[in-house]
Amino acid sequence: MQPTIKIPSDVVEEIIEFSREVYPNEFLAFLEGKVKTDGVVIKNLAYYPHEASENSVTTIYHMGTHTTDFIGTVHSHPNGDNRPSKQDLRTFNHDGVVHFIINNPFRKESLRCFGNDGKELEFEIV
Ligand SMILES: [Zn+2]
Repeated sequence: MQPTIKIPSDVVEEIIEFSREVYPNEFLAFLEGKVKTDGVVIKNLAYYPHEASENSVTTIYHMGTHTTDFIGTVHSHPNGDNRPSKQDLRTFNHDGVVHFIINNPFRKESLRCFGNDGKELEFEIV
């Protein structure tokens, strides 16, 4: 059985809000949560005040600012689809367990989740 990934609906709302707010720039945040035996539970966004660009995810990783509950990342693709870019895939591989991408028009339906290998993962909004 595939472990479940759970993300609270208010976190999804925040992702949508921030993605719209910073548009046409890219929104980026860390996710905090817990890995449990039966899956991954996301608790909240950990903000990183930042003028983002497509390279920014990597930049932040190299700054070593992870909190102890760091579990993954979320970022927006203001233009284009919600699949990971080559750059994203390199970053995903670096750290974290789950990586969300949301694209324009920034709706629940435009949110997708990927593992470190770039494979799409199913998730539940709870
Ligand atoms: Zn990206």
